[in-house]
Amino acid sequence: MTSPAQNGLVSTYDVVVAGAGVGGVCAAIAAARTGCRVALLESAKEIGGTGVHSPVGLVCTWFDKTGRYINRGIFEELLPYLYVPDSLGRGVIQTYDEHELKQGYLRLLDAEPTLDVVTSSAVTAVEGDGGTIRTVTTADGRRYAARVFIDSTADGNLAAAAGAEFQQGREADGKLQPSTLTFRVDDVDFTAFGMDPAQPDWARWDNLHLIEDALLPLYRKLRETNGTSNPRENVLCFPDRKGRSLLFNQTRIANVDPTDADNMRRAMEEGRKQINEFWEAVRHHPAFAKARITISERLGVREGRRIVGDYMLTAEDCLGETKFDDMVVACGYALDIHDPTGTAATSIREIPGKGYYHIPYRCLMAKGFSNLLLGSRCISGTHEAHSSYRVIPPVSAIGQTAGVAAALCVRLQLEDVRDVSASWIRHELREAGQFVEGECVKAPDQLTTAPVCHLR
Ligand SMILES: Cc1cc2nc3c(=O)[nH]c(=O)nc-3n(C[C@H](O)[C@H](O)[C@H](O)COP(=O)(O)OP(=O)(O)OC[C@H]3O[C@@H](n4cnc5c(N)ncnc54)[C@H](O)[C@@H]3O)c2cc1C
Repeated sequence: MTSPAQNGLVSTYDVVVAGAGVGGVCAAIAAARTGCRVALLESAKEIGGTGVHSPVGLVCTWFDKTGRYINRGIFEELLPYLYVPDSLGRGVIQTYDEHELKQGYLRLLDAEPTLDVVTSSAVTAVEGDGGTIRTVTTADGRRYAARVFIDSTADGNLAAAAGAEFQQGREADGKLQPSTLTFRVDDVDFTAFGMDPAQPDWARWDNLHLIEDALLPLYRKLRETNGTSNPRENVLCFPDRKGRSLLFNQTRIANVDPTDADNMRRAMEEGRKQINEFWEAVRHHPAFAKARITISERLGVREGRRIVGDYMLTAEDCLGETKFDDMVVACGYALDIHDPTGTAATSIREIPGKGYYHIPYRCLMAKGFSNLLLGSRCISGTHEAHSSYRVIPPVSAIGQTAGVAAALCVRLQLEDVRDVSASWIRHELREAGQFVEGECVKAPDQLTTAPVCHLR
């Protein structure tokens, strides 16, 4: 972090959010709904992030083992048509359409009069003193001041530019989960796989093997003849709800560092190569007689920087369902690690017991920073814990929580995000339809005494 510059025009907001993926969109909306003036800065030409520009097809678990929703709030406004599996867990595959998701983001963002969305605006520099951020500067030289900053860049780019401590990759060797370039195949004839989209619930999990049974022999042959550099051992794809297309999560590119632009460019080329190899091997299947292929615009990055916070969530916390007094988010998705070398099978460890765990507010605080919150998958946790909460439903709840906490900090004129009580945040989240556990206390309209430091 550099010292504040003395010249240049500065736009002043209550809250600045960097990154407009699911985390940043939910953070910005949550803060704006309280009346805060919010700037949402996005480096790309369009908002949406990974879920829109490298669509992943599927929405991972947002419910516990009894089917109770544990990620709600803004997430439910974005994807209202999703529903839970039946008691045998055989539910329909929960896919989403990235265009619908983006329209959902825009509808909610446009409804907020105090929210400015600024695209093509990568945060490149951060100015402040000590652990307090004063302004951020974007690549085009514009500067933004705020009381609270939220890093929703997925890779912790704002926090890292401010000098926050971070970790990358697994503990043993620093290797990150592999990246994937997804692609869609439209106009698929599902009847050629023995599936009938005219039937209700045709896209059930227990039908998915029909597609893999048909395509795996073709893909295996490609691998046995050294026809591809893709180390993936299986075929992974998901049918859309309308029975028209398949979204392939097929490529696997190891050793991608999302903070290195050259590395990302090479990975994108490798992804395209793997897709062409795969498509040549399977395109003659009768299901693809009239099919068209569309490669996603951006590389899908599973893991980047994990910012070190006031608490670091561990695999033991997730699998042991640790309950935290400062719980603000729940997560029910498994620990899901795609092998960082790209060669071994994916390791999946389900959350036992009730099937969900708590994420404490301290994981959203960057260590040593008074007015910085983490509002995307870059929150403070280990490589293993991150493999679980990195998916769309919990990240939406993380973003919403960061937005609510920032707004409370602004309204009560607090200097430090640590002075916002988790019970106040939970109260606001519960009022907004979010699932929370623990005491909920309405925050005072204004503070008459010095704030109690709840979490230091
Ligand atoms: C291959 C793959 C498969 C997946 N499968 C699933 C799945 O099946 N189900 C599921 O639920 N989840 C899945 N996920 C996870 C999920 O899609 C993402 O982890 C999640 O969407 C991350 O949201 P986010 O808001 O943290 O980050 P992102 O959506 O990545 O958003 C971050 C945004 O910040 C912007 N940005 C970056 N740097 C800056 C900067 N300096 N200034 C301003 N803006 C910046 C980026 O352009 C981006 O728009 C998958 C992910 C991948 C990669």
